[in-house]
Amino acid sequence: MNKFIVANAQECINCHVCEVACAVAHHHEQWPEKTAFYPRIRVLTQQGKSVALTCRHCNDAPCVTSCPVAALTLTQDAVKLDEALCIGCKNCVLACPFGAIEMVAPEGEENALAQKCDLCADSAAGQPACVAGCPTQALTLMDGAGLRALRQQRQRATASGRYDAGRTPLRSARLLARAARKGATKVPAEARKTHFGEIYQGLDAQQAAFESERCLYCASKAWCNWTCPLHNAIPDFVRLVSEGRVQEAAELCNSSSSLPEICGRVCPQDRLCEGACTLKDRSGAVSIGNLERYITDTALEQGWRPDLSGVTPRRERVAVVGAGPAGLGCADILARHGVQVDVFDSHPEIGGLLTFGIPPFKLDKQVLSQRRDIFSAMGINFHLSCEVGRDIGFDALLAGYDAVFLGVGTYGLMHAGLEHEDAPGVVQALPFLIASTRRVMGLEDDARYPWIDVAGKNVVVLGGGDTAMDCVRTSVRRGAASVTCAYRRDEASMPGSKKEVVNAREEGVEFAFNVQPQFIERNRKGHVTGIGMVRTRMGEPGADGRRRPQIIEGSEFILAADVLIMAFGFKPHPMPWLRQHGVSFDDWGLIETGAHGISTRTSNPKVYAGGDAVHGADLVVTAMAAGRQAAREMIAQFDVAQASGG
Ligand SMILES: Cc1cc2nc3c(=O)[nH]c(=O)nc-3n(C[C@H](O)[C@H](O)[C@H](O)COP(=O)(O)OP(=O)(O)OC[C@H]3O[C@@H](n4cnc5c(N)ncnc54)[C@H](O)[C@@H]3O)c2cc1C
Ligand code: SF4
Repeated sequence: MNKFIVANAQECINCHVCEVACAVAHHHEQWPEKTAFYPRIRVLTQQGKSVALTCRHCNDAPCVTSCPVAALTLTQDAVKLDEALCIGCKNCVLACPFGAIEMVAPEGEENALAQKCDLCADSAAGQPACVAGCPTQALTLMDGAGLRALRQQRQRATASGRYDAGRTPLRSARLLARAARKGATKVPAEARKTHFGEIYQGLDAQQAAFESERCLYCASKAWCNWTCPLHNAIPDFVRLVSEGRVQEAAELCNSSSSLPEICGRVCPQDRLCEGACTLKDRSGAVSIGNLERYITDTALEQGWRPDLSGVTPRRERVAVVGAGPAGLGCADILARHGVQVDVFDSHPEIGGLLTFGIPPFKLDKQVLSQRRDIFSAMGINFHLSCEVGRDIGFDALLAGYDAVFLGVGTYGLMHAGLEHEDAPGVVQALPFLIASTRRVMGLEDDARYPWIDVAGKNVVVLGGGDTAMDCVRTSVRRGAASVTCAYRRDEASMPGSKKEVVNAREEGVEFAFNVQPQFIERNRKGHVTGIGMVRTRMGEPGADGRRRPQIIEGSEFILAADVLIMAFGFKPHPMPWLRQHGVSFDDWGLIETGAHGISTRTSNPKVYAGGDAVHGADLVVTAMAAGRQAAREMIAQFDVAQASGG
């Protein structure tokens, strides 16, 4: 009889470990790219219950009989697919009564091929990866003998009047019995709105032990570390904390991330690692971000530093343009491989938007200067207050280095398209935030980021993302008389982190939802006095699934404002000096990469790029991941050149 995998829905805890184990097993035990994540087992959730579904390897399998080219065959144990024969006709998908076959087109290829469970035919472990990985043993590889034993067990239970005996979820219930999440302590709103100090306090050793002991340790490769863009070894570092081995945890965190204590503070964990935690909708996700911050903060306090003593110096030199997360991620990996790195940035401190975008109440700027010291001790040379294209030519970098990495971000400002957007009192979000942060850091005012005094004024911020939240909360701390965030959609449609909206409300920010700006009202001197608004209602979802706001006729009104802050996001800024050197851009002005099959290489073979400048304004962690990837790809190219005697 064929073998097949059965799932016990009573024991399934919706941890997705089977999906991760399957995708990794079919990817030579490496993490696949996001676009190549094709598990052949799927966890389905219905009315709060979950269960894994996979191929039953049916006797007389309808997929086999439907295949016109004999790509599917019934072997001794199971139904196997020969991808080389598959013509993508989809007959098998239609024939399978369980929906266990998927058509999948590998990245860059047009033709989709069938994908199905093959019981890990090539596995050395002798057991399917999903079965081996399931933390509650909810999956069993069933054969004829197993099926007979199960039948007899059920018959005995039925005969004794306890037909459901043995089906009480024991392992899952035991595993899921966890205390409720406590998380980090938040400074009360009345106290925190008087200063720019971080609002979340770091965990102490006791809190860290409590939070880490809540982790289920679903698997070493779990859904949380699949969801983290860096694939941080979350279950392993959390376990090390629970065992009190903080410095080992720091080694682990710093091996997959260049800025773990920073991501622990600023990542939107609720939609990344913590959003994937099995406990999320039960007793609350494990405080992964807080633990990540705790590990590196504590280890650094204890004197731990990255150990590069075993690194062999290489002869290659790389110039990195931009000391934001992308540039720092790239420089970190290069330095760890012995490459000489020079980082150039126009700002006087490293960090990019980490320093001059994200306000200090979310990320203390000391954390960045500490990181600069660490990176400098690793041998990375920083050339700060040095703008490429102005203070040093790009041609000098191309001539003086073996490769150049561009992590230059996106600094083009988006406008509302209203008349008088340049009126006094109307300001853009980023210069407003930079000017404020420079004062917190004790830096001189800079004409490029003019200081706007909002004390005692009525501030209106237009926009509903994280940048808007940073502006409203900065205005509160700068003593504004009133602060209102005006957003054209409803609250549920806000693109930013829900946590930041809660924090803003606690600090006294008012929200005006479903309002669309129409015109800027000014006084006789031309200074802004208000913003003309019209109310909107949410329409039906469009093709992209998003509901568009629709104007309500006759609902116009004026919102009084002494200062109007535009927080509509960012687009790429022009960099003519790059075009002159053969670097190409897409229609949106983003740098194009992927030349010669190398994901971060630009159309100039010596130039690599990553972060916001390539994928558009996004997150710290995705920018850093791109920079690290670029460094790995550069090193691979250096090795190829060296092997060919170049
Ligand atoms: C207000 C605000 C708040 C945010 N909050 C969060 C958050 O809470 N969490 C989160 O994950 N993400 C947040 N983000 C997004 C995140 O900061 C960015 O996605 C990330 O910093 C992008 O990294 P990057 O390295 O690509 O670019 P950047 O961080 O923009 O760094 C680019 C660097 O390149 C330098 N540079 C550019 N051109 C040159 C040149 N010619 N010569 C020398 N140097 C140059 C710039 O000075 C800058 O330092 C926020 C963004 C903003 C604007
Ligand atoms: S880097 Fe961000 S997503 Fe990854 S584990 Fe840390 S906080 Fe979570």
